[in-house]
Amino acid sequence: MPSQTFQTHSEEETIALGRDLAPQLHGVVLLIGNLGAGKTTMTKGIVEGLGVALADAVSSPTFTLVHQYGGDHPVYHVDLYRLDEERQVESLGLNDLFATDSLVLLEWAERFPALLPAQRTEIRIRALADDSREIVLTCQD
Ligand code: ADP
Ligand code: MG
Repeated sequence: MPSQTFQTHSEEETIALGRDLAPQLHGVVLLIGNLGAGKTTMTKGIVEGLGVALADAVSSPTFTLVHQYGGDHPVYHVDLYRLDEERQVESLGLNDLFATDSLVLLEWAERFPALLPAQRTEIRIRALADDSREIVLTCQD
């Protein structure tokens, strides 16, 4: 399984990395890491890199659950942190999103493995000392 490992040292560097990685991302992408690791920050860069919104316009969908950026080729950003049960997640209509060819970026989705497609990309973010982060990108396809 091919994977790439990166290190960033600030919020700005993680946004820049997201911008750089954006063109190689497609389909379902899991953003995995603790609270405050930088999942939403990475999303800002990815969304900006695809040209569908500026980084500053991207906010956490913690309460709204799903954000859509762009119209013609939308990018979806989902946060399942507040959900506890599979049926709650199912009622969001994620399968409809997965069935499109849109990029779907998901935070906390690894908590619901049965609802996820096997073919997906994972971005794991781990806080190192201070503002440093280790970011591992793995494509499963
Ligand atoms: P998550 O979505 O994983 O809970 P956020 O992206 O919302 O995390 O928040 C990450 C926090 O960590 C922000 O306050 C950001 O400024 C800070 N931060 C510090 N260093 C980094 C880094 N290298 N990459 C990303 N965020 C960082
Ligand atoms: Mg977040």
